[in-house]
Amino acid sequence: MKILCIGRNYEDHAKELKNPVPSEPVIFSKPDTALLRNNDPFFLPDFANSFHYELEIVVRINKLGKNIEEKFASRYYDEIGLGVDFTARDLQDQLKKKGLPWEKSKAFDHSAVISKFVNKEQYPDLKNLNFHLEINREIRQKGNTSDMIFSIDQIIAHVSKYFTLKIGDYLYTGTPAGVGPVKIGDRLKGYIEEKEFFDFEVK
Ligand code: MG
Repeated sequence: MKILCIGRNYEDHAKELKNPVPSEPVIFSKPDTALLRNNDPFFLPDFANSFHYELEIVVRINKLGKNIEEKFASRYYDEIGLGVDFTARDLQDQLKKKGLPWEKSKAFDHSAVISKFVNKEQYPDLKNLNFHLEINREIRQKGNTSDMIFSIDQIIAHVSKYFTLKIGDYLYTGTPAGVGPVKIGDRLKGYIEEKEFFDFEVK
């Protein structure tokens, strides 16, 4: 099982971090040891100072595929959920400055929070889904999938040129604007439309 993630897929988020808006999807990956499931707490690591939440729609791949055409991409996933792409932002800034890979800041243990999944048929239009993150009962991040630069199907077509997709792989589809740091004691709840998908604490 692998986790593929898309960076800078919402223009307002690319701009808030002063990154260029990409002309093709920015891809990175996380190992399976990055997963944090079942509303388990996120223990703040000690190797960086600023750990940012990034709320993202996640799809689970349900079919083996390579070089998938965009028009067939929707056949390769049937469930969606929510994730948090935790990022050691100060460390990532240092790595970016040196032109080094992001792995240490993005792919560390428990950096990929994953919610429960639901059948995508529950939602009439995956290109118009509202999702939001509450921290300590305050809305901190809000997005709508209509603002994605690259749609889920376009992402699947693109990433499958480079990586064979396998059953059980996860695809994190990028975060909207509003990212920020977490601290010990924070309680994070994620929603798609009005339905709660995860609820966990930072310890
Ligand atoms: Mg992200």
